[in-house]
Amino acid sequence: MSNEVFFGSARQRRLHSSETLPAKLDRIIERLALKDRVKGETVAIKMHLGGGIGYTTVHPVFVRKIVEAVKAGGGTPFCTDTPWAVLTAYQRGYTQETLGCALLPTAGLNDQYYKVTQEPYKNIKEWKTAGEIADATFLIDLAHAKGHPCCAYGGVFKNLALGCQVAEIRSQLHDVAHYDQYWFPEKCSDDATIQAIIDACPLNALVRDKDNPKNLHLHTEPCNGCGRCLEVAPAGSLKIDPVNFNSFQEACAVSAKQTLRTFDKEKCIFLNLATHITPVCDCFGMTLMSVLPDVGIFGGNDICAVEQASLDAIGKEKLILENMPGDTYQVQLDLPHPLQQIHGRYKDPYDVIRFAEKLGLGSSDYTLVDVMEEEAVTAAAGHISAAKL
Ligand code: SF4
Repeated sequence: MSNEVFFGSARQRRLHSSETLPAKLDRIIERLALKDRVKGETVAIKMHLGGGIGYTTVHPVFVRKIVEAVKAGGGTPFCTDTPWAVLTAYQRGYTQETLGCALLPTAGLNDQYYKVTQEPYKNIKEWKTAGEIADATFLIDLAHAKGHPCCAYGGVFKNLALGCQVAEIRSQLHDVAHYDQYWFPEKCSDDATIQAIIDACPLNALVRDKDNPKNLHLHTEPCNGCGRCLEVAPAGSLKIDPVNFNSFQEACAVSAKQTLRTFDKEKCIFLNLATHITPVCDCFGMTLMSVLPDVGIFGGNDICAVEQASLDAIGKEKLILENMPGDTYQVQLDLPHPLQQIHGRYKDPYDVIRFAEKLGLGSSDYTLVDVMEEEAVTAAAGHISAAKL
């Protein structure tokens, strides 16, 4: 199968509805031949339906386009997300009436309907992939691109990695950051020094362990890897090590593999809407200002290619610094990707793709096809021509 990634830009060249994103999504769906591929299939449209009073998840107008295409092709679509998101989805405009199909919790209302697979990773002994996802015969991974405190970015991988596992495993996924030892108490037993290390962090990322105050606990989410704590910590007592950050991304790749293994390779489509890009995940239950300009929609058959194309395009934009939420972050403009500039040097948003390629989930090499230009831009080693974006 070709590694084309179809792209609809958020920008318009003229004032016409055909130049807007829902119309460009229609063209992407067409280029992916969705209608021809879903006859007789049970099609899971995996979304992140957000939480609380967030309002910048994928709008029902886009979802309906996909639902209608699946129905026109003779498939049976349903939209799905975690039970807690589905139960409150109506508050954010997602209902059977607005979407045009059933809206089901991925693992049943009690989060107990799942399929177990064995592929241990650090603290995660087994995977519990949501039953409704495992039962479906065709997958549409419909993601919203945004920032994320654990790994700088969330897109098509995170939508599956977190959203298709039950809550127990999602919790373990977040705990992988603590699997590799970073605090060595035998090298620092002095209480005043421990407090000085904690006080050195401008982002409150270091706290005392709740069970043993002589131990330090690192919250990797706010940590941006600035290293100020290391200037205070006695030699060998504390590590701020990439492994404690990128383990989350490797775990996400392994998790996504558990979902993808339940589908034939040609029965998966990946769509990523890179608009309203906020610093944190949609699960925060609120919407912040966009910190990057809207980029557009990406669609393809290869999860790695779609994620790479999305990240490359987002990476060409500049942070809108005045839209950052107060003094929550200390932006590091010397880092290569704008989302890394927010979240820190050890949160390389491309890591998940590298890990996934090693697992055989796809390839980051891609050809970007602008569905309005009808011409291909060949990507060289995963990097695309700036002229087309
Ligand atoms: S490296 Fe992380 S934990 Fe240490 S001071 Fe900087 S932000 Fe805080």
